Amino acid sequence: MAESIAFLDDEFVPISEAKISILEPTFTKSDVVYDTLSSWQGHIFRLNEHLERFQNSYRAMQLNPPYPLEEIRRIVAECIERSGFEDTCVTLMATRGPFIDLADRDIRKCKNGLIAVCVPYYWVLGEDKQTNGVNMVITENQRVPAGAIDARVKNFNWMDLTRGLLEAYEKGGDSALLCTPDGFLSEGPGFNIWLAKDGKLFTPRGNLLEGMTRRSVFELAKEMGAMPIEKPLTPDDLRSADEAFTSTTAGGITPVTQVDGKTLGNGAPGILTTRLTDEYWRRREAGWHGTRVEDVLQERDVA
Ligand code: PLP
Repeated sequence: MAESIAFLDDEFVPISEAKISILEPTFTKSDVVYDTLSSWQGHIFRLNEHLERFQNSYRAMQLNPPYPLEEIRRIVAECIERSGFEDTCVTLMATRGPFIDLADRDIRKCKNGLIAVCVPYYWVLGEDKQTNGVNMVITENQRVPAGAIDARVKNFNWMDLTRGLLEAYEKGGDSALLCTPDGFLSEGPGFNIWLAKDGKLFTPRGNLLEGMTRRSVFELAKEMGAMPIEKPLTPDDLRSADEAFTSTTAGGITPVTQVDGKTLGNGAPGILTTRLTDEYWRRREAGWHGTRVEDVLQERDVA
């Protein structure tokens, strides 16, 4: 039977058995960086690029996971294989880990760890939103400034995003889009944002996670002749867009059909959004940018 699997303390275990101490800064200070990958029909998407981003994140926080990157690559594949799920999301976490001595609070002396978790593939905005579209609320709550937290370092310091999400729910929305302190669009809890206007495609530039799906949209859009442009965008740019969508590992491309409860464009997923979504999934099924799980496992057998 397929089940969610974790890798923790050098062991693969069912997810219910994966536990960390409540005294660790990993938990008490969210002192952990992460990355989320997906596999679709046995192909891990952009595996090495995710690992590179993960490495950049843990280096930025002076974390030193106890395995080299090639080993982490194999751990990802083994989690997927052991889970038995056809399509998965795998989250890697580089943790600060426990204090060696509770009387010594020097985080540089903590025993850094690595956790991997494999669960069935999920849609962060809900699978139904693929057809219906999202009511996106542009929130009063701001994204934390880059000088405080570098959003390119994928991290669990989500208080701004969570507050944004709660605000969006209160306002009747499905999810939240936060702005930078100087009023430009940034990103939401778990996704990047895109908008199309007069045949041109735009996505914000600034303090945001440079998503792997965002990278994929750049590629697809260029091939389709819709030259994507990265630039500072305002809330009004989104409100007056012809169409908009989100991009994320956990859900691919999702249409935005309302902004702040008001209909966007004609209220249906846009033509470009639909073309990009179809092409994204057609390619994912064909193994686009994919590394086969079994190939990674064979590397292990040969080594
Ligand atoms: N922005 C944030 C804050 C995220 O958490 C995520 C993904 O989890 C993204 C953007 C999208 O990035 P990716 O396409 O790599 O999943």
